[in-house]
Order: sequence, then structure tokens, then C-alpha cells
Amino acid sequence: MIYFDLKASFIFTKDVSDLYDVFDNFFKNGVDKIFLKNSEIGVSIEDFNTNGNKLKIHLKSNQVVRANEALIRLKKELSNLMGFEFKIGVREVLIDFFNIKIEVDNNVNIKTLPYVKSIDYDGEYINVTFDTESEQKLTFSEVEKRIPDRIISLIKSKLADYGGKSEHWELLWESEDKEFEFNEDPTETMLNEGWIKRGYNRGQWIYGTEATHLFRTFEKIVLKELLEPLGYREMIFPKLVPWEVWMKSGHAQGVYPEIYYVCPPKTRDPEYWEDVKNIYNITKEVPVDLIKEKIDVPIGGMCYAQCPSFWGFLQGETLASDQLPIKVYDHSGTSHRYESGGIHGIERVDEFHRLELVWIGTKEDILEHAEILKDKYKHIFEDILKIKWRTAWVTPWFMAQEGKFGLSEMEGAGTVDYEALTPYNNKWIEIQNLSINATKYTKGFNVKSQNNKVLWSGCSGVGLERWAAAFISQYGLNIENWPKKFRRYFKEMPKGIKTL
Ligand code: ATP
Ligand code: ZN
Ligand code: MG
Repeated sequence: MIYFDLKASFIFTKDVSDLYDVFDNFFKNGVDKIFLKNSEIGVSIEDFNTNGNKLKIHLKSNQVVRANEALIRLKKELSNLMGFEFKIGVREVLIDFFNIKIEVDNNVNIKTLPYVKSIDYDGEYINVTFDTESEQKLTFSEVEKRIPDRIISLIKSKLADYGGKSEHWELLWESEDKEFEFNEDPTETMLNEGWIKRGYNRGQWIYGTEATHLFRTFEKIVLKELLEPLGYREMIFPKLVPWEVWMKSGHAQGVYPEIYYVCPPKTRDPEYWEDVKNIYNITKEVPVDLIKEKIDVPIGGMCYAQCPSFWGFLQGETLASDQLPIKVYDHSGTSHRYESGGIHGIERVDEFHRLELVWIGTKEDILEHAEILKDKYKHIFEDILKIKWRTAWVTPWFMAQEGKFGLSEMEGAGTVDYEALTPYNNKWIEIQNLSINATKYTKGFNVKSQNNKVLWSGCSGVGLERWAAAFISQYGLNIENWPKKFRRYFKEMPKGIKTL
């Protein structure tokens, strides 16, 4: 149960102290229909009084009709009543007090929320008391913008997360067991052989000619075995992602700890930067604190999920039905994530390379195409890379981030993770995934079809570092030991750069 306790004042354009009986009559006989939902009344008027041009009212409710919703309806009805009969208008509605009690089994870890004075847990209820006094207070305008309802949704989604933080994971398929000739850490091995070197940034590598050729071979295999036969067309998606994109894609709800932020200079006037240049040239140290003052707020971040910035191409557009399903891919640049401290090898890096597939069509199109893709991937892993791998059904990122509310229209949405074994530590790593995003993006970016059919989309991200980690950890660097079909794609090992 959720209980609402709300005190508000209506400020009228004229004195209403003589109209007590009018209000009394209205509250006794006129409000039932506006406080009604599914023939249940959820709201009660605890008391009210008039004073000058002010009507003070105290509402209590459960979640059938939330008190904040009741207040919006009351304002409308009172405006009609007073305007029509007495030529008096409602000038303003003030929120004097607002408290919400949410009955819960356990606490949620939320310490501060906008417009909220305090949030605490008393063993039975989460008590949310809104700020009705300070500069950041909740006003009627926020009530109209459904801020209280969003706060309730946020708490509910945190509650749903609770205990279920180990996300849903269900094995779908696993390839046959294999004997592994090789049993070393793929990163160490490549480092030792000079295939890769550490980049200057955390979680960043410089790929030498051999490793690069390996990545390009993976891409060629996906291209020849999957993208070309299935009619995918190449595009170039932007790699600097402004907030607006993540607001529409949903990533703005939770991506903050993991992104690399991008800040432009406050001005490109060379004079403004003169002191920075001079300091560097004299001290040979980059004055980062000074630079911090001279750059603007972040406009967004570096590519995190790859497909969101594609959707700007279709935003607000209507797609001709004869071209559905649309299938495109991008491998034009890097993705960046501020990963947790324990990163060491190429399997979890801050800068990675990924091929991203996106397909758009009707629900049937999307589900059908996902099956075709799964077959193609299976063929690649079974017959060409010949690795030990498996698939699992997992909580899709957008459900993990946003909670599972209001997603019934998304029935059929979900993510398949592809994992491979790294024998040296006997662990499984996620090498790619395949997501059915339902209406997540088509709604977020307002994309319609010509015949008004609901549009769905899917996407799949093939991680080249992860493929390399899986393949090398199972086969090592000796080309002689690699599977025949793979070698046919790989052809010649390029010469590496030898150092003394
Ligand atoms: P993980 O749980 O392993 O961190 P994820 O669920 O964060 O993976 P997604 O957000 O689903 O990964 O990204 C899709 C694909 O991008 C992954 O399957 C993987 O191939 C690749 N990827 C994601 N993060 C990294 C990373 N830090 N380093 C290398 N590849 C990555
Ligand atoms: Zn995607
Ligand atoms: Mg991750």
C-alpha cells in the first residue's frame, strides 16, 4: 500500500471567506466523481478552511487516486465552479505539506532525491517527505509534471532490483566439450609475442599488425558469413554522444559511473588559452586544474553502446513499409567505458572495438530475424572459429536499468548473451550479445511505419577484443593449430614490428 498525505492552499483572485458553505457542499456532494477510479474512492478530505482569498485543504489517499492527482483534478473543478458561479479565479495552488508512505519489505538505498526533504525507512514504510519550503521546493508545477509519480516509480524499481541484483541468467545452449591444447592467459601471450602493447590510458591497448589482422579477420568472417548474405548495409554512427541521444535511448537513467565525459572548450579564442600554452611551454607540465576551469560542462560522452546514435537518422521519420526490415551495421570507431579497477587484459578494456548490427521492422520481422542471426552466429562459432561457447538468456540492459514496470507491451523483448570459455582460468566471458529491444528505440526516437504498424528493433554487438580473448585463449598464437576454415580467412600472418 502507498499512503498520501497532502496539505495545499488554493489562492483565489477574490476573498472567499464567505463561501465556506459553498465549498462544504462541493466537497460533500461534488467531488466523488473526480475522486473515483474503477468505482473505488481513494481520497478523503480530512478538513478544510477559508481565510481571506485562501482555501486550505488537507487530503489523504491511498494509491487508487493519488492525492497529488486528486489535487490536479480539484483545481480544475474548483476553477469551473468558482469561475462560473462567482467570477472568481484560482490564482495559485501552494503545496504546504506532502508526505508519501510506501509499504515495503526492505529498505532501498536512496539518500537524496530532487524536491524531497527527507527519505527514511521505519521498518515498515519508506517515508518520503517533500521539501515545501526551500528554494528547491516542490510546487504545483512539479505536481502537474508528475514529479511525485516519478519518484514513486523510481523507488519501486529500486525495490524490484533489491536482492535480484545478480541479474537473471538462464543457459540456453552450450557447445560440446573440447580438449584445449593451450592454457595460457591470452593477453600475456600476445604481450610476450609483441602482438599488442599497453596504451597510455587505463584499459587501452595498441594493437600491432598481427593482432590487428586477427580483428580484421573476425570482421571479414562476420561480413562474408552473415552481413552480406543477410543484406546488411554499412553506415557510420557518430561516436561522440550528446545527452539528448541517451535521454531518448534510456541510457541517461543510469550510465553515469561508466562513461567517458566530453567537455568542449568554453571558447576557441586563442587568447583565452594563452596562459595554458605559456605554462606548458615554460614548465613542461600540462596545467590540468587551469584547463578544468576553461572547459565547459560535459555535452555528453564517448560512444558507450554504439547503436543509440544511429537513431538520430530516423528520428521523427516514417519508414516506407516495402523496405522493412531495415538491416544496417557500423564498425567505424571505438567504444569507451570507464570499467572497474580490476581490469588487466584485453577482455575488459576502457577502449574497445565492436561491430554493431541493428535491424528494424515489425515485431514478427524482428523475432524472425533474430533466429536467422542466431543460426549464422552458431555456424561461425561452431564451424569456423570452432570454439567452446554457450548462450544464455539474460535481463536486457534496458530492463536492468529501468525496472520491470510497464513493460507488458514489450513481451518478447530480451537479450541473449554469447559467452566463451577461457581455459587458463576456466571462466566464461561475454563475447557478444543479441538484443530484441521491442519498442524501446522506435518509441524513444519516435519512428513510425507507413502502414501504422508498431515498429520494433533489435541490435547485436560483436566485441572484437572478446572474440580475440576467447579464440587466442583456446588456440594460442601458433597459426598451425588454428582451425582450417579460420586460416582460410586469415591467410598470411603479417610481419610484426621487431624491436631490439
Ligand atoms: P560485461 O558484463 O562483460 O561487462 P556488458 O554486459 O557490459 O558486458 P554490453 O553492454 O552488453 O556488455 O556490450 C555488448 C558487447 O560489447 C559485449 O558483449 C562485449 O563484446 C563488448 N564489451 C562491452 N564492454 C566491454 C569492455 N569493457 N571491453 C571489451 N568489450 C566490451
Ligand atoms: Zn545496441
Ligand atoms: Mg559491462
